[in-house]
Amino acid sequence: MKMIDAHIHLDQYKDEEVRLILDNSILIDSLVTVSNNIESCKRNLQLSKQYSKIKPAFGFHPEQNLPSEQEMTDLLDWMNRHQTDMIAVGEVGLPYYLSRDQKVSISQKGRYLEILETFISLAKEWDKPIVLHAVYDDAPLVCRLLEKHSVTKAHFHWFKGDEPTISRMLENGYYISVTPEIVYKDKIQKIVHQYPLDLLMIETDGPWPFEGPFIGKRTQPIMMRESIATIAKIKSLSETEVSKRLLHNTKGFYMI
Ligand SMILES: [Zn+2]
Repeated sequence: MKMIDAHIHLDQYKDEEVRLILDNSILIDSLVTVSNNIESCKRNLQLSKQYSKIKPAFGFHPEQNLPSEQEMTDLLDWMNRHQTDMIAVGEVGLPYYLSRDQKVSISQKGRYLEILETFISLAKEWDKPIVLHAVYDDAPLVCRLLEKHSVTKAHFHWFKGDEPTISRMLENGYYISVTPEIVYKDKIQKIVHQYPLDLLMIETDGPWPFEGPFIGKRTQPIMMRESIATIAKIKSLSETEVSKRLLHNTKGFYMI
């Protein structure tokens, strides 16, 4: 059994923790580490040079204050210069949780959309997959932008959304990934029940902490073994078959 963590924030782990994750990585084929901003991009790039299993994606996480014009220019210039170092554009998307908590005005939401559209068109231009943070009501907005730019290599990480959006996404061939939350959350189990295994990946979104059997534990890629066991039950397949197919999906999608 080999696994790929299709979405982790390794830059947010201490050097010592990253070393431990890699030292105990017999079951880990690769780790796709996504970036929140330029500093995070630089650290992920440095980690990928240190460990060949680490594959970096570069972007700007939407659940934070808007970047200034200068910050955006600097980030896009930096990404442009490091095109060959990145396996994907991400993490990018829309600030669902900030909006829900009324921390984003309508005009700011417009700017988040503009920024996202810039990343989508660059992903197209650079021929890179895109890693999206787009849940619930934001997912259809993101689908519309992807369709507008004819972007098909899209990965909606930790996806949560309604039935019509799920149908639209699978018709478009978009991938989703699930975190260890699948082990104890009905809502996620239902999505996996509906979504074809061929468009599925697994992730931790580490160091994001989990509940259920993982409560109080530092998030580690090895937790994905439990995710595989749950997916195998839902899909009525063996764990070996599921892990083989998830590995195949992720390698194909990210070309790693
Ligand atoms: Zn993330």
